Amino acid sequence: MTVGTVFAFLFGLALGSFLNVCIYRIPLKKSIVRPPSSCPTCGAGIRFYDNIPVISYIALLGRCRHCHTPISIRYPLVEIITGLLSAALFLRFGLSLHYVFLFLFTAALIAIAFIDLQHKIIPDGISLPGILVGLAFSFFPSAGIPPLDALIGVVGGGGFLFLVGTAFEKVTGREGMGGGDVKLLAMIGAWMGWKALPFIILISALSGAVIGGVSLAASGQGVRSRIPFGPFLALGALVFLFFGEDIVLWFYRLGR
Ligand SMILES: [Zn+2]
Repeated sequence: MTVGTVFAFLFGLALGSFLNVCIYRIPLKKSIVRPPSSCPTCGAGIRFYDNIPVISYIALLGRCRHCHTPISIRYPLVEIITGLLSAALFLRFGLSLHYVFLFLFTAALIAIAFIDLQHKIIPDGISLPGILVGLAFSFFPSAGIPPLDALIGVVGGGGFLFLVGTAFEKVTGREGMGGGDVKLLAMIGAWMGWKALPFIILISALSGAVIGGVSLAASGQGVRSRIPFGPFLALGALVFLFFGEDIVLWFYRLGR
C-alpha cells in the first residue's frame, strides 16, 4: 500500500461522486455540469461539506439535511466501487496513460451498469463515444490490443448480441436484448479486443443467470419481467480486465 494507491483511491471516490451526477442526470437528459447538485425531493442545494464522498452519507445518516428524505445507498456504493477500482488499476499499471485510459473505460462501465439497473436503458451518449475512445486506445502500442482486434471486437461484439436478440425475438415474440446492450458489447469489444469476448459473454451470462434468477425468485415476478443485462456485461468486462490472463490460462488447462 503506497501513498499513490491511497491517492488513486481518493481520486476514484471523487470521480465516483461525479459518476453519481451522471447516473442521475444523463437518463433525464439534464446537463451534467450545471446546475450544482440539489436534493431531488426538496430542491435544497447541497453544500460542499454535505457532498464529500461516503463521509457525508455517513454523517447525514443517509438522509437529506433539509427534508430528511433518505438518500439512495447507490451514492456511497458507486463512490466506493469507483475508488476501489481506481486503486486496483493503479496497483496494476502505476501512474501511466494505461491507468488513465482504463479508468475512463471502468468509469463508463460503472455509469452504464447503474443507469441500466435503474432505468433499463444504456445511453448512446456513453457507449458510442466509448467505442471511439476504445478504438483510439488500441493505437497505443502498450494497449496490448492491436487496432484490428479492437475493430473486430466492435463488429463481433455488437453483431453477436444483435443476432442473439433477433433470434430471441423470432422465437419468443418478445424483445430480449435491447439496442443498448448491442452497443455496450461493441464498446467492450473495442477496449478488450475480440479474443476477450467469448469469456466476457460467458461470465456475463453465468452471473446474469445466477444473480438474475435469485432476484427474480426473491421478487416473485417470474421470468416475464426483464432483467437489465448491461450490469452483467459490465461485470464480465471488469472481471476479465483484472483476471483475464488467469481465466484464459485456466480455461486452456481444462482443455488438456
Ligand atoms: Zn431534501
